[in-house]
Amino acid sequence: MTIRLPASIRDDVLAARPTLWLNPGVRPAAVALDALPVHPREVAEARANWRRIATLLARCFPELEATGGAIASDLIEADALRAALGYGAEKFGRIFVKADNSLPVAGSIKARGGVYEVMMAAERLARERGLIGDDDDLSALAGDDARALFARHTISVGSTGNLGLSIGVAARALGFKAVVHMSSDAKAWKVERLERLGVEVVRHRADYTEAVERARAEAADDASVHFVDDERSRLLFLGYSAAADELRAQLEARGVAVDADHPLFLHLPCGIGGAPGGVAFGAKAAFGDAVHCFFAEPVQSPCALVHMASGSTDLVSVYDVGLTNHTEADGLAVGRMSAFVAEVMRPLLSGIFTVADDDLFRWLALAWETQGIRLEPSAAAGFAGPGFLADTSAGRFYLDRFDLRGKTSTNVLWATGGAFVPEPQFEDFLARRGR
Ligand SMILES: *Cc1c(COP(=O)(O)O)cnc(C)c1O
Repeated sequence: MTIRLPASIRDDVLAARPTLWLNPGVRPAAVALDALPVHPREVAEARANWRRIATLLARCFPELEATGGAIASDLIEADALRAALGYGAEKFGRIFVKADNSLPVAGSIKARGGVYEVMMAAERLARERGLIGDDDDLSALAGDDARALFARHTISVGSTGNLGLSIGVAARALGFKAVVHMSSDAKAWKVERLERLGVEVVRHRADYTEAVERARAEAADDASVHFVDDERSRLLFLGYSAAADELRAQLEARGVAVDADHPLFLHLPCGIGGAPGGVAFGAKAAFGDAVHCFFAEPVQSPCALVHMASGSTDLVSVYDVGLTNHTEADGLAVGRMSAFVAEVMRPLLSGIFTVADDDLFRWLALAWETQGIRLEPSAAAGFAGPGFLADTSAGRFYLDRFDLRGKTSTNVLWATGGAFVPEPQFEDFLARRGR
C-alpha cells in the first residue's frame, strides 16, 4: 500500500529522527466524546469497579493493605529533574512525574489495566457459576471454592513483558492457570519472574503483533481460556482510564488548577496504545478541553504516529514505512497499534512525538540521580514532551492555535514502569548513558 505521511514530518519519521506530529483531527471534547465506541460513563463505572474490587485486592496482595486495596501512584513534582532535563525556565510551566513506575503489584502502568481485567473476568466467571450473589463482597473470590473453580480456567495474553507480568501476577493470585506469549523483545528477567510465579511462558521468535495473534488463535476454541486481548480489550482500556481521576484528585490536593487558563499537558509513552489511550480518554472525560494529550514513541516504533498521521483507514505498521521496530524500550516495541484505540484517539489526541533510545537512557539516568526515580527505558519517553511544546515550531504552532502561549501550564510526564527492574539490569541501563 502507498502510505502518505504529512510533508512536515515525513523525512524525520522515515530517517528515525525525533519529531512532533500534531493531530489535525482533534475536536472539542464535548463533541468528540459523544460519538465514540466508548462513553465517559464507562470511566465512572470503571472507577466504581475499582472500589468494589479493593477488598479483594487487599486480600490477594499484602502490599495493598496500606491503601485498602487501591492501586495508585504518587505525583512527584520534578523540581531537581526539570533542571537536569533543561526545563528550568518558566515557559515550561510546572512539571510533575506520575510515578506509575512504582505502582504496586506489577511495577508498571499495566497494573491499571491487567489487574483490572483479571479481577473483572474472575468476578464474571464466579457469578456465572453461582459462587457469589449480586450483593456479595468480592473478597469471596479469594476463598477456597473460588480458587478451585479458577484452577480449572486459564488466563492467557500476548506481551512484550509488562502486560504479561501484570496478568500473570493477578491470575496466579486468584489461582488461575496463566499462559503468557512473549514476543522476542521480552527481557529475560521478566520471563524468569513469571516462571517463578508458576506462569507458563511461551517464547515466540516473533514481534508483538504476531505473539498476540498466536495467543489469540490458541485461546479461540477453548471455553476454559480467557484471552486478554491487548488489541481489542475494552476492560483493559477502561481499567487504565480510571487513572485520570486519581490524577485529578492529586492536582486538586496541591492546588493546581486545570481550566481554560491553566492547561494541563499529559505526555504518555505509547506501545499498542491501550494504556496511554485509556488514560487520555479518562483525562478528556475529567478535564475536557483543558487537557492536551500527547503520545511518546521510539523513533523506530512509532506505530501510532505512522498510522494516525497517514490518515489511512487500514492499519499502517512501522514496517510499512521501512522502520525496524527495534528499540531498547521493550514496553513500546509495537509495530502496529490497536485499531480500537486509533478510532477513539482520532478526535481526542493532540499529537505524537518520537524519541531516540540514547535519550531514553540519558533521561533514565537523570531521573535516578536527581530524584531517585527508578525507570525502565520506556518510562522516560514522555520526558521529551515539554521541550517539543516550548522549543519547536510545531509545538509553538500548537500553543498558538489553542491560545495557550504564556498561560500557566502544568506538564505531567507519565513514568510508566521500572520499579521491578533487577539491580544488575538497572546498573546496565545507567551505564548505557552516552554510549
Ligand atoms: C505497556 C507499556 C507502555 C505502553 O502501553 P500500551 O498499552 O502498550 O500502549 C508504556 N510503558 C511501559 C513501561 C509499558 O510497559
